Amino acid sequence: MGREPRPYGKDTSMKAFVNDDCIGCGACEGICGDVFTINDDDVAEAIEDDIPEECEEDAQEAADNCPVSAITIE
Ligand code: SF4
Repeated sequence: MGREPRPYGKDTSMKAFVNDDCIGCGACEGICGDVFTINDDDVAEAIEDDIPEECEEDAQEAADNCPVSAITIE
């Protein structure tokens, strides 16, 4: 048994979450619009699916730049 060795980053799926602290500033959408969108309630929403691999860095950057630290990536 055992898993095939994979290139770095291939076997970790990441998800993004936005909590109630969001003030709807739009920064995350500006940095990573593929993962974050401002919804009808004027707060950010993260995609429910895993973060696309090519967006992981941007999603992390969006989390780092959120002024109220409302984004969790895990
Ligand atoms: S950057 Fe933070 S506060 Fe601004 S919209 Fe995104 S989650 Fe909300």
